Amino acid sequence: MSDGNVMPNSTCPFCKYVMDRYSAVGDSGVKAKPGDVSCCMRCGSFLVFGADMQLRALTLDEMDDIRRSPIAKELERLQREIRRFHAMRN
Ligand SMILES: [Zn+2]
Repeated sequence: MSDGNVMPNSTCPFCKYVMDRYSAVGDSGVKAKPGDVSCCMRCGSFLVFGADMQLRALTLDEMDDIRRSPIAKELERLQREIRRFHAMRN
């Protein structure tokens, strides 16, 4: 995995983890844009890039959209991997 792409400091609204980089799923090199969904690298919560490229919690409508989207399974797999990784470390 690369060192990722730089973004403005973002604090996870759920676990307060501060992130300043992101990586595309599969390390594909794709750059994020406002509205793209991400996962907190500590707690695995789903987050979304805002207009300022800081991560924020999803609204309930956005969460519903994701659950119905083709990327839902990939996001849930990523969330499980993040949580399994941290569970093994603790
Ligand atoms: Zn978090």
